[in-house]
Amino acid sequence: MIIVMRTGAGKEQIENVIEKVHSFGLRTHPIYGVQKTVIGIVGDDKTRIVEKMHGMPGVEDIIPILQPYKFAGREAHPEDTVIALGDVRIGGEDVVVMAGPCAVEGEEMLLQTARRVKSAGARVLRGGAYKPRTSPYSFQGLGEEALKYLAEAREETGLLVITEVTDPRNVELVSRYADILQVGARNMQNFALLTEVGKSGHPAMLKRGPSSTVKDLLLAAEYVIIEGNRDVILCERGITTFETYTRNTLDLSAVPVIKDISHLPVIVDPAHATGRTHLVEPMALAAIAAGADGIIVEVHPDPDSALCDGPQALTLTQFDSMMGKVRSIAGIVGRGL
Ligand code: PEP
Ligand code: MN
Repeated sequence: MIIVMRTGAGKEQIENVIEKVHSFGLRTHPIYGVQKTVIGIVGDDKTRIVEKMHGMPGVEDIIPILQPYKFAGREAHPEDTVIALGDVRIGGEDVVVMAGPCAVEGEEMLLQTARRVKSAGARVLRGGAYKPRTSPYSFQGLGEEALKYLAEAREETGLLVITEVTDPRNVELVSRYADILQVGARNMQNFALLTEVGKSGHPAMLKRGPSSTVKDLLLAAEYVIIEGNRDVILCERGITTFETYTRNTLDLSAVPVIKDISHLPVIVDPAHATGRTHLVEPMALAAIAAGADGIIVEVHPDPDSALCDGPQALTLTQFDSMMGKVRSIAGIVGRGL
């Protein structure tokens, strides 16, 4: 916790503040800057300080945490955040698998995929209704029609639904159908969208932007959390590097890095990270081994005819086979599925 004194705060005001802190049995570390004096406070229970010190003459601000990500960091919240949705606990002991098509293309293909991924052990159905495509001429998604199919698939299978929201104006609509709102990599720093998602109070998964640092990701999460929504999941989905063989480069070390500095659950998306079906399984297994709380993958009944991201989609059979190995690796790192 740090007390920032106003520019020009007098010696007497600074001494009064220090004395007050001492009266709570806490120690002070004043740093006398040219412009401002900052008073660091050391001790266990600092909550009383915040209540008592605001409004004291000369006090400008009371900053409880040193990390820039005040609420997403472990400094403020040492225990892991576990997001409980029905009987699914994201960030808990079990690894959570999210699977489904990149885009919802129709009712039948979605139901067929949902049934299969459910029986293979997935807990969350993914499927884009609003697709953030690089080209405006590419398939943009079926919109609300797709949301209805997702809700229908949830009804039938009991899977939770995650789907992307691309526009702040659609947050309310998508929240009516989805259990988890996905903020895509391209929108990671769309602050108006993050704020709306925060206000919605709906669990959200925030995907790391391809050119963003881990710190940027955590600060983006802050935008959601400061609106009062603490149910935020982070997703590593590959970043831009000079490598061209893969679509992006999966930054696997980001998983233990984020788990170290943040309490939020971390999911890995090996599909968008690699862009190639044959790399999805090895990277999914590596993600679980690295400590990810789950994975999100794309599954399509006929990837060759997919309207979006076919080259990185698993077939239903490939998904079944991957899940057997995911279960084994999860067991090795002491987790269930
Ligand atoms: C997606 O999950 O469908 C997607 C568009 O991913 P990303 O935002 O990571 O590119
Ligand atoms: Mn996709």
